[in-house]
Amino acid sequence: MLQGQEAHAAEMERTFIAIKPDGVQRGLIAEIISRFERKGFKLVAIKLVVPSKEFAQKHYHDLKERPFFNGLCEFLSSGPVLAMVWEGEGVIKYGRKLIGATDPQKSEPGTIRGDLAVVVGRNIIHGSDGPETAKDEINLWFKPQELVSYTSNAEKWVYGAN
Ligand code: UDP
Ligand code: MG
Repeated sequence: MLQGQEAHAAEMERTFIAIKPDGVQRGLIAEIISRFERKGFKLVAIKLVVPSKEFAQKHYHDLKERPFFNGLCEFLSSGPVLAMVWEGEGVIKYGRKLIGATDPQKSEPGTIRGDLAVVVGRNIIHGSDGPETAKDEINLWFKPQELVSYTSNAEKWVYGAN
């Protein structure tokens, strides 16, 4: 069994997921967390923060040339954001699937944005779009000591013993 756990450990990834101020204010924290949790992903860090506008600009630095950048950063810093790190096999890519398309009008039913949001400017959740951004965003939002490494009791049932 130890061997199996080690084999899986090599494939484990971490991604940064944030519930934006609209998702927090609409009371969707538990609903969103439960979708990641029930899937079998593991929560390794979580905190509620009100980011400054400067911090929001850092988070969205890739989008600074876009016309919506200023409004987006104003919005992200307008209230509490629930910042999280989730761990699991394929969690970066599959997390994006759980979230759905950027524009909720184009998100499939069954996805978080498809089920719970209507317009692109209020799409309730952020998720890292690849391994590099996941690493950068986790480092931006969390100190190393805020990431909790532990073995979840469910892991052997989610992944199998080997
Ligand atoms: N956004 C917006 N208008 C647009 C495109 C994006 O307000 O036309 C916002 C939206 O909140 C989105 C965020 O900017 O979630 C970041 O855009 P990105 O393209 O990275 O989408 P995501 O990765 O969040 O799906
Ligand atoms: Mg993005």
